[in-house]
Amino acid sequence: SKLVYDFAEGDKDQKDLLGGKGANLAEMTRLGLPVPPGFIISTDACREYLAEGRVPVRLAAQITDHLATLEYAMGKQLGQPDDPLLVAVRSGAKFSMPGMMETVLNVGLNDESVLGLAATSSNERFAWDSYRRLLQMFGATVMGIEGDVFHDALDALKAERGVTADTGLEADDLKGLVTTYQELIEKHAGRPFPQEPREQLDLAVNAVFDSWNTDRARLYRRQERIPDDLGTAVTVIAMVFGNRGEHSGTGVAFTRDPSTGKQGVYGDYLENAQGEDVVAGIRNTLPLAELERIDKTSYHELIRIMDVLEKHYRDMCDIEFTIEHGKLWMLQTRVGKRTPEAAFRIARHMVAERLIDEDEALQRVTGAQLAQLMFPRFEESTDHDLLATGMGASPGAAVGKAVFDSATAVEWAARGEHVILVRKETNPDDLHGMVAAQGILTSRGGKTSHAAVVARGMGRTCVCGAEALDVDAAARTVTVRDGRTLHEGDVISIDGTTGAVYAGEVPVRDSLIVRHFEGEAETDADELVGAVATAMARADSARRLRVRANADTAEDAARARRFGAEGIGLCRTEHMFLGERRQLIEDLIIAESTEAQEAALAELLPLQRQDFTEILEAMDGLPVTIRLIDPPLHEFLPDLTELSVKVARQEDAGKIDEHDRVLLDHVRRLDEENPMLGLRGVRLGILIPGLFEMQTRAILEAAADRRDAGGDPQPEIMIPLVASVREFDVVRRHLDKVAAEVKAERGEVPYKLGTMIELPRAAILADRIARSAEFFSFGTNDLTQMTWGFSRDDVEASFFSPYLENGIFDVSPFESLDTLGVGEFVRIGTEKGRSTRPDLHVGVCGEHGGDPHSIHFFHGVGLDYVSCSPFRVPVARLEAGRAAL
Ligand code: ADP
Ligand code: MG
Ligand code: MG
Repeated sequence: SKLVYDFAEGDKDQKDLLGGKGANLAEMTRLGLPVPPGFIISTDACREYLAEGRVPVRLAAQITDHLATLEYAMGKQLGQPDDPLLVAVRSGAKFSMPGMMETVLNVGLNDESVLGLAATSSNERFAWDSYRRLLQMFGATVMGIEGDVFHDALDALKAERGVTADTGLEADDLKGLVTTYQELIEKHAGRPFPQEPREQLDLAVNAVFDSWNTDRARLYRRQERIPDDLGTAVTVIAMVFGNRGEHSGTGVAFTRDPSTGKQGVYGDYLENAQGEDVVAGIRNTLPLAELERIDKTSYHELIRIMDVLEKHYRDMCDIEFTIEHGKLWMLQTRVGKRTPEAAFRIARHMVAERLIDEDEALQRVTGAQLAQLMFPRFEESTDHDLLATGMGASPGAAVGKAVFDSATAVEWAARGEHVILVRKETNPDDLHGMVAAQGILTSRGGKTSHAAVVARGMGRTCVCGAEALDVDAAARTVTVRDGRTLHEGDVISIDGTTGAVYAGEVPVRDSLIVRHFEGEAETDADELVGAVATAMARADSARRLRVRANADTAEDAARARRFGAEGIGLCRTEHMFLGERRQLIEDLIIAESTEAQEAALAELLPLQRQDFTEILEAMDGLPVTIRLIDPPLHEFLPDLTELSVKVARQEDAGKIDEHDRVLLDHVRRLDEENPMLGLRGVRLGILIPGLFEMQTRAILEAAADRRDAGGDPQPEIMIPLVASVREFDVVRRHLDKVAAEVKAERGEVPYKLGTMIELPRAAILADRIARSAEFFSFGTNDLTQMTWGFSRDDVEASFFSPYLENGIFDVSPFESLDTLGVGEFVRIGTEKGRSTRPDLHVGVCGEHGGDPHSIHFFHGVGLDYVSCSPFRVPVARLEAGRAAL
């Protein structure tokens, strides 16, 4: 079967087979653009090589065939002594993995052909420069020698000659360097550099295959969620030479500015250079516009080609090019990566330019990008004092005093200070410090390190792996690579988006996009605001999922509404029992008589009614789903140990407080080994019916008050943690009785009574539950805990890092729905529920309601709405729109 393809045989849609680089080179060839000739060894060959541990036998013959075609086209043979054909051997997988895999240039040079190249080019320096580059790349990539071995030799030579740039070295210097490199290769690899051109080629191809599985490539794939079994293609392409002296050079360019999205080309150019020189920062590059002055013809040709590419790909492209003796060659193109800001701007510009339609524009932006634009940011300025750059692991802009341990973080935060917890790396013991800090900074670890995972989970700003920092927790200092030392208490600023770490306090400004959603920035106030507004409008008209918010207060409800929420999907009531009301709950629990219980409830009723009135008012005309009290009761009671100590002291002193003693009995009675699996949710409603009844009365009376005030209240009462329709029915009997009373007293108030589906049993028996429940809301947080059998509060900080590192999770199942497992319960529950009640209204509350990937899944299984935190509402609207396209 076929393993090798000519450029003319492929096209851009064959990235699976030819890799992104190969497919796009094929596409440019088809477009008639100036691409050096070449061929592509497919990912099939790589996969076979990786699986079998040896090169497929038929590959050699196919390479020979395609090489012959290439040699014929070029009129010379690989490594031919008097006038050698040289090739580049380049990696390129389906998804771009910049800098992760290997490329070897100038393959085909040896001790003989280097002389031929010098003669035919009449440029000795160029020939020796090309050869030393081959030795360097081949030595490192193919023969496995540390790259520094070569860099050190080069640096030593430059120092000896008193030059700073490699261009300062003469032909003879480079010739000497070639000898040095060959000696170094023999010394470090134990064998000489292979002189035979075809052997060079074959070894380079294998090395590219192998580079798929280097540690850094694997790590990158895990972070980017790229599957491990795709393999890379290998492109073999005739060399063109930007290092050929005058009228030669190499560059990279974007068809638009990838950081702002501004129209107009953007890029860097470097004269007399090859390969990575441009990006490696070895010499200062020129802005692309300078090329017009240096080589007008090539510049205009480049601009013309960029225009062709943009029209063809209908997107911003990034390209690599080389100019050899005034002739322009295209070496790579692909749809370019861009910042969130650029993504929205470019999408809007391209609609105006009629390159794409509005649906396509919506596909080009993501909820994750929108979320990035909603974080507060540091003011832009070049004055900030940059200490180091790590990985932006959890976005946001945090400013605070550096502290080096969790206890200090907690202590300082308690007295009102803003702190940044600075650690080499974090571990589960740091959790309380992370909670107390504005942000977390580590010098080690990647985007899946403990610090990163936990910080993202709790929405803390985090920069990790800032390797230029040497953290000394014992000395309470951090030493920067430039020699400076910071001490505990010094103010630093960290940018969780870019990974930048600054000394001192960098001013923070609110996101313009948030101000727009808040109604404080007009659509035409700024081009970016306009671009976001356009995308939102398209998403809102396309989406089928409705978006509600999780909000427990009138204030949150109002904000959510400004952000576009179409109701409340989850109003929790537990926080309403904290503070001063805790006393009433205590009274309720220790009440020995029905009268005492009723008295406590009677005191709670007006307070609850007021809570609900305010929320129903903020969401007037929209549905408000209120969940009856859910957590274990003892969460509202004093801590068992503390109370025991208190009572013991009282006994010692002989002054016993009767209330405390009785309370202790009850706290002891209610103490549980596994409160998550204990007396909570519907179970409470069955044990203490008065509590649910009081809440229901408060909701219905609040609704009646709102109605009397001319409002349009739409309450939905939701019972948590139901596993059986019989549980639901027991509670329903109590609540129906209350509803009938309120109706008699206040007249009809429409409401619905439904349930959360958050236990596997409920999902499986949803058809039965739907006989009594009028709506469902999937509580995917609990459903995830109950399906996996682990508690979110305990495990995220303990074993999630190794789970992520071992690829057991791609991402925490609390962040993004486990569609395979937990999602199956959502699908089954919806289907079964609707088999009983075809018009059953089904939504989801829980963190997943605001997660892009999960939203696409919920759209796919036909839910009616998602509910998420107010801040995520715009993200959910955008993604729900994208899901519907
Ligand atoms: P990466 O995927 O890391 O960008 P590439 O395969 O694109 O690696 O190659 C690295 C460098 O080598 C690029 O700068 C590219 O311009 C240069 N290069 C690749 N092929 C050729 C060629 N045929 N002639 C000259 N330079 C080349
Ligand atoms: Mg490249
Ligand atoms: Mg729950």
